[in-house]
Amino acid sequence: MDGSVEWTQGGDAVAVVVQERQGRTASGTVYLKVLDKAARTKRAGVALAICWGLALGSLPILFFHFFLVPPFGVLGPVMFLVRMKQERFVLGAQVDCPVCEERTQLGKQADGWPLLASCGGCGIRLTIQPPRTDDRGPVDWRLYAAP
Ligand SMILES: [Zn+2]
Repeated sequence: MDGSVEWTQGGDAVAVVVQERQGRTASGTVYLKVLDKAARTKRAGVALAICWGLALGSLPILFFHFFLVPPFGVLGPVMFLVRMKQERFVLGAQVDCPVCEERTQLGKQADGWPLLASCGGCGIRLTIQPPRTDDRGPVDWRLYAAP
């Protein structure tokens, strides 16, 4: 893998530190997708439409509509707000195992740090974090841009 695989397209490459339980470290790259307001609104609108679509679709189902319509009706706006707040997510990652040096790929996921993974080679648990963290506020991911 040379970093040009399809899921890295449109993402920002971020250099990360991979750590295992005993403190050994290796390097990796996480591809982040940063969403601007227009992209967030679109994703949020899609989530709302799906939830309300499911609520409407549940209406004709006798009996079950009592259980299905209210949750989907409420879930729509909740999902809308959640997605509006989601400013970025992880497209994928490539990390090297500090123990066996096997390269492991991670799929698309929410960007909650540290990311957790299991090595595809030896199965050891890996903790993936940016090289520096800033507890005082949102992280400026450009600081971590991989060369
Ligand atoms: Zn390993």
